[in-house]
Amino acid sequence: MTVTKTDADRAPASWGLGDGQAIPWDYAPAPENREIVRLKDRYGLFIGGREVAASDDAVFTTVNPASEEPLAEVARGTAADMDRAVRAARLAFGRRWGGLPGRERAKYLFRIARILQERSREFAVLETMDSGKPIKESRDVDVPLAAAHFWYYAGWADKLDYAFPGRVARPLGVAGQIIPWNFPLLMLAWKIAPALAAGNTVVLKPASTTPLTALLFADVCRQADLPSGVVNIVTGPGEVGMSLVRHPGVNKVAFTGSTEIGRRIAAGLAGSNKALTLELGGKAANIVFDDAPLDQAVEGIVNGIYFNQGEVCCAGSRLLVQESVVQPLIDKLKDRLATIRVGDPLDKNTDVGAINSRAQLEKITELVASGVAEGAEIYQPACDLPDRGYFFRPTLFTNVAQSHRIAREEIFGPVLSVLTFRTPEEAVEKANNTPYGLSAGVWTEKGSRILAMVRRMKAGVVWANTFNRFDPTSPFGGYKESGYGREGGRHGLHAYVRLDDR
Ligand code: NDP
Repeated sequence: MTVTKTDADRAPASWGLGDGQAIPWDYAPAPENREIVRLKDRYGLFIGGREVAASDDAVFTTVNPASEEPLAEVARGTAADMDRAVRAARLAFGRRWGGLPGRERAKYLFRIARILQERSREFAVLETMDSGKPIKESRDVDVPLAAAHFWYYAGWADKLDYAFPGRVARPLGVAGQIIPWNFPLLMLAWKIAPALAAGNTVVLKPASTTPLTALLFADVCRQADLPSGVVNIVTGPGEVGMSLVRHPGVNKVAFTGSTEIGRRIAAGLAGSNKALTLELGGKAANIVFDDAPLDQAVEGIVNGIYFNQGEVCCAGSRLLVQESVVQPLIDKLKDRLATIRVGDPLDKNTDVGAINSRAQLEKITELVASGVAEGAEIYQPACDLPDRGYFFRPTLFTNVAQSHRIAREEIFGPVLSVLTFRTPEEAVEKANNTPYGLSAGVWTEKGSRILAMVRRMKAGVVWANTFNRFDPTSPFGGYKESGYGREGGRHGLHAYVRLDDR
């Protein structure tokens, strides 16, 4: 890919190259080798420990969003297949897994964690090919964190009495889990690891644009000798997800995805006595006070909104800046944006990869057009985009009003909306002025101000002088339309147990 030189690529005068003269070098291509991934032509469903075709033999194609090339055919599961999977999970729960001592369950989880680490490069390359995310993120964030979740929950499996002192923790039964496309393997780990640690069995439905790492995970289950039926994976369209939610053999539903589908799932479960965890959308405020270290804040802002192309439910998509530092911060941000490399996700130097699907690209494009039409000022760095694939330039909007759609709606793309404030009260007011409440960020040098802000912000996670940091020990979840229940940490375990008195 040719990289257009921009102002930020110009040499400082002290380099002796003359004012405005371009630095005479460019990054060489550094593509990750994709040969470690052995793609099959066709993938089946994973039910009862075996790979099976869909009941009507139907398939769909999953494509690489960076090249639009078809990667493989994947079984298009039906409600009948979902029924088969839930029966397999019930059988595994009743026969063996539900009564297995915690230390035995832990061994399987440790084994899975170790295999994920051993096969981490294979998983990272496949995740990048199927989702469009940069290899440096799938390699350094998604896959290591997925393994870390299995390590962490393996540790809890034989310690449930300590997790919930004075109570007896019992598994719920069969967990029906639906995951999105932005962190396919990581969301699988967030869901499957605590469920198995607590003694539940699982039926998981991956997103249709990113089924491949879940299907590779089926291979890991076999390699770990996990008893058949403990984990079942059914690929297929959204309606198949709904047949999982509604299935009478399911005791617990866990969903991560859009608020709209989350609402439908909650309505579908009303009166059913099934446990439910919802992790939905967000419109996080990332708040920069005038005493913040601006250079560090710029890195945090970039990580907050351009990480994973901004396709992150907790992305810092609304930047709230104290008025006195708006101009220097925006100047620094524009300089930094000019150095972001957009392109082939398999290139190790790529910062922003491909948008996950054409539909998501269209949604981002439409919302960005609405920002321009409503009067916000757009800035995009000059950079060439590949000819094929679903790419979008990192985008920065200034002069944004709270009423603009780009300040209210979840864009789920590399688009930052900048708003300003004068006092901490105004910052809190604006930060909380959203139907969502998943995450937020605060940048200031004062610890007391951090604590005061954290208390007043209606967000499940608040990062201070950093953004988008994840750890298996730390609970994650939202308020309001961002959902309910927590994943991660001891709280995440709680979502998969029934607590009885001793
Ligand atoms: P969805 O909520 O439609 O998809 C998430 C998961 O739910 C996928 O596995 C999907 O399957 C499944 N699903 C879809 N319809 C149903 C249904 N009726 N019943 C049960 N499960 C269903 O998100 P989209 O992919 O449509 O993305 C739209 C927007 O949602 C994004 O632009 C973003 O704003 C938000 N989003 C938020 C996420 C988060 O992490 N909170 C993650 C993804 C999206 P399938 O893929 O087969 O349709």
